[in-house]
Amino acid sequence: MKPILIIGGGIAGLQAASILHTKRIDFILFEKQAYIGGRVSSIVKDGFILDRGFQVLQTSYPEVQRSLDLAELDLHFFESGAMVKDQLFFNPLRRPFDLFSSDILTFKDVFSLAKIWFRLQGNVPALDGNKQTTQELINSYAFSDRFKNEFLVPFFQGVFLQESLTQPASLFFYYLQQFLYGDAAIPAGGMQAITDQMASSLPADKLKLNQEIVAISPTSVTLKSGEIIEGGAVILAVDLRVAAKLLGVKSPETLGSRTFYFSAKSSVNQPGLLRLVGEEHLLHFTCLTDVNPDLAPKGKALYSATSLKNSSETEIKAALERHLPGKKLTFLQSFDLPHSLQLVDDYGAIKKAAEGIVLAGDYLEFPSLQGALESGRKAADEILAKT
Ligand SMILES: Cc1cc2nc3c(=O)[nH]c(=O)nc-3n(C[C@H](O)[C@H](O)[C@H](O)COP(=O)(O)OP(=O)(O)OC[C@H]3O[C@@H](n4cnc5c(N)ncnc54)[C@H](O)[C@@H]3O)c2cc1C
Repeated sequence: MKPILIIGGGIAGLQAASILHTKRIDFILFEKQAYIGGRVSSIVKDGFILDRGFQVLQTSYPEVQRSLDLAELDLHFFESGAMVKDQLFFNPLRRPFDLFSSDILTFKDVFSLAKIWFRLQGNVPALDGNKQTTQELINSYAFSDRFKNEFLVPFFQGVFLQESLTQPASLFFYYLQQFLYGDAAIPAGGMQAITDQMASSLPADKLKLNQEIVAISPTSVTLKSGEIIEGGAVILAVDLRVAAKLLGVKSPETLGSRTFYFSAKSSVNQPGLLRLVGEEHLLHFTCLTDVNPDLAPKGKALYSATSLKNSSETEIKAALERHLPGKKLTFLQSFDLPHSLQLVDDYGAIKKAAEGIVLAGDYLEFPSLQGALESGRKAADEILAKT
């Protein structure tokens, strides 16, 4: 059989390649960039490891547990909770007694959280077809304005990378379950280590970097050079917008974000927590080296800051310095990610246009590593079912 042609070396494409490879099915993977990993990749600058967009690995995602060797990733864990305007708010399931000493929680918040907790028992599907949005769901509980506006809303704006919180309420419950019962972590080598682990089991000569695919059919791909390569089948594992473009479908809306990195002199023994801000420019920030000291040269601290606006480095630095008085920050790098995530949708037009082509990519499930890994597995299974 001719090799399976996989377009896209993000997590979905790598997952499909890994599964096909273990089943001894020949493949060639084409990646447009000079690096693999897509949205899960990092650069090294001045000795700092900077992920292309701040993100975390949720260790309880079923596909993460099934597909990755977590021990080998040497994970560094965030404290389960967040810092809200200098108030620590820890996961109530890990530190139940802190609930009663927390300044940001009122009795009615505890009551509403208990009601939500009951809904998290058992299997919580990420998508249940219900049209209720996350914002509508949050508004349906009697949360205090402070807990809602200073914790719940900015926290989920950071998860969804969306201010209006129109993503489905079911996804809110699903992610909450992952955060409450699982851990958020960063590998010692940054998020790139996840990608590298997945690629390490694949033959290097099957990963074709700097190869942009400009046209596809169910059994062939056309490179930018004009060369046409024939295969046994095609797996289109690109992000939503590129999939739409290659299939001749109108480009769907995506959700953008910006990540800024700053260095400073290292501080000592701070809890590795996300700090929620919820201001116009600065949504949240964290001292990454409090979580994972390996991300910076010795004696240096690495901060990341996330914005959902078109903010400049000067605006972010000014906002950060208000929250870190006395800290001298040096700008390192920013990543503008206009297509960070996508809205949950059935993307029926793309599926229809793809007839005969196997699709993979997080947009087919829901935006996350879980979604990308799951979609890659389903694509590989579809190929295996035909062979
Ligand atoms: C800022 C940010 C924060 C996030 N936070 C989290 C988080 O905390 N937890 C979590 O689980 N998930 C998070 N995510 C989502 C997660 O990163 C994605 O769901 C996942 O990486 C998607 O993988 P993918 O393979 O589907 O797509 P991609 O990673 O987009 O991979 C697609 C690949 O196709 C390549 N490609 C595109 N066009 C072509 C072409 N014409 N020819 C060849 N190759 C092409 C691209 O270069 C890319 O490598 C975050 C994402 C971002 C950007």
